[in-house]
Amino acid sequence: MRTSSIIEWKEDGITLKEAEITRSDSSNCRGEIYVVGLGPGDLEYLSIKAFKVIKEVDVVVGYNTYIDLLEDLIDEEQEVISTGMTKEVDRTQLAVEAAQDGKRVAMISSGDAGVYGMAGLVLEMVAENELDLSVEIIPGITAANAAASTLGAPLMHDYAVISLSDLLTPWEVIIDRLEKAAAGDFVIALYNPKSKQRTEQIKEARNIFLKHKAPDTPVGIVRSAKRGTEEMMITDLENMLNHEINMVTTVIIGNSETFTFADLMITPRGYEL
Ligand code: SAH
Repeated sequence: MRTSSIIEWKEDGITLKEAEITRSDSSNCRGEIYVVGLGPGDLEYLSIKAFKVIKEVDVVVGYNTYIDLLEDLIDEEQEVISTGMTKEVDRTQLAVEAAQDGKRVAMISSGDAGVYGMAGLVLEMVAENELDLSVEIIPGITAANAAASTLGAPLMHDYAVISLSDLLTPWEVIIDRLEKAAAGDFVIALYNPKSKQRTEQIKEARNIFLKHKAPDTPVGIVRSAKRGTEEMMITDLENMLNHEINMVTTVIIGNSETFTFADLMITPRGYEL
């Protein structure tokens, strides 16, 4: 048996022990912000580094749903600041203020914090205000990688990740990128594909793909990847809109080489077999 401060390897698997808590009296310290990617959902997919940071900080800041996921990790001495989903700027402001008070702060983001997550916003705020804070980004498993692993190996060749949300990006820009990625025969992973209000974008995206890709191009749809409620479906461009697509869905459209086998989606890397 090998042990380290927080992990224990045993015959029957790995156990995470309580981290050696190094939380200290933080007054007079330079503030620290860790922007922590939680991975796709289930805590089994949280990195050990992320686990350790969440255990050690004084303050945990995040969107309510993600804070709930971490309930078992956070102890009473830690301060928790949770806000609603669209409050990213307010949330970042609160995290920065806590760090400026000399606290160690974990800013929680789903998946990878640097993929449509909180990392950019935190760094932009620090840069814009020339703040004397230490910032560290802790990577997480992004939805595209989580979904791909459920589908098989669809991202084995060059791929593009495109968000269909036009809240912060003009729709013309998104259309242009969809066109170019499809024309370049990239595998394409779509984030934010459809919400209750945004129902047309996924249809328009499919029409663009059909200009460059065959109707039988494999399409993988994964809802709630790597969460207890995960559901997956392999279909094709022709039929993809007949399946439920929502805001916890990642849609992966294959390239011209992608094929299906049993319930797997595979993009060849190019090896001779
Ligand atoms: N930072 C996150 C992405 C945030 S954008 C990451 O790296 O994963 C939000 C979009 O991510 C959702 O609309 C959905 O398309 C995708 N997503 C997030 N979690 C997911 C999951 N568990 N399963 C499938 N898609 C997911």
